[in-house]
Amino acid sequence: MTRALTLPGLVNAHSHAFQRALRGRAAGGDFWAWREGMLAEADAQTPQTVLDLYTDTYREMRAAGFTAVGEFHYLGFETALAAADAGAEAGIGFVCLYVAYARGGLERMQQPTVAAYLEQLETLRDRGIAVGVAPHSVRACPREWLVELGRYAAAEGLPLHVHACEQPREIEECLAEHGVRPVELLADCGCLGESTTVVHATHANGTELDLLRDSGATICACPTTEADLGDGFVPAVRVRHRGIPLCIGSDSNVRIDPFEELRELEGIARRQTGRRGVFSTDELFRFGGDQGARALGVESRPGIEIDLDHRSLRGVAEEHVPAALLAGCGADVVLAS
Ligand SMILES: [Zn+2]
Repeated sequence: MTRALTLPGLVNAHSHAFQRALRGRAAGGDFWAWREGMLAEADAQTPQTVLDLYTDTYREMRAAGFTAVGEFHYLGFETALAAADAGAEAGIGFVCLYVAYARGGLERMQQPTVAAYLEQLETLRDRGIAVGVAPHSVRACPREWLVELGRYAAAEGLPLHVHACEQPREIEECLAEHGVRPVELLADCGCLGESTTVVHATHANGTELDLLRDSGATICACPTTEADLGDGFVPAVRVRHRGIPLCIGSDSNVRIDPFEELRELEGIARRQTGRRGVFSTDELFRFGGDQGARALGVESRPGIEIDLDHRSLRGVAEEHVPAALLAGCGADVVLAS
């Protein structure tokens, strides 16, 4: 009989599942060069390709120990329905972080008005799909949109997720347009609160981190993607110092492994401090589990089982298994459910 250890299910708070298709063929250049290839891939998606690819990708997530996913979806309405079907097919908790996109990107990503966006979001809710409000970024949403979306999310008690401070150029453009940095703009527009998750915050400065702390917002770090795209490091130590909640996402899905995301977070903190064990094992599992669930508004989720007879865990005493998972295991230690 297989010996197993049950742990709370892990939560993937930020995913663009279609980007899984880009792995191995999107090297070179910088973030902006990658973005061109990503947009071409996005434009090729149909409800059928989304159903197929997302079902496979969500099955991989489920096998890796992710029991819920926040899909940050900007491919339009019909494909959002297909993504929800894929989530159900794969048996993963699914939250559609339906993206508001006013300008830039592709035409299929955009809505003409906030009202048109909210109508689509309401239709998803009416069909029983769990949703969050997701202004794509301060790049894609002007101030008036942010104000309305922040007000709507607060009034409806919905999570609000937004990319911010991923790349220096985004900050420069925000300063040029608004005279403030992205997180400052989000604060001005009423988009920061306890139900807000800011994705990345890689280049957030001290003032922005203070605003996140004061509002009770969460940061979603996506370390394997941030490394792959050359974004930089989440300011892990400064975030911890302020007590800002963290959660994790597999984002571009170049890797699907919750232990690796958490290991990277701790690794970044070690590189930044020259110390070890900056985050405790319990803290890291909270980032990977409860805090992701809170960020998505997911109330319950199944446990996962770890194969104690797996070769990566041979000779590890049971009380050291959680720490060993973070220190040196891949997601293949998770037993199929
Ligand atoms: Zn993203």
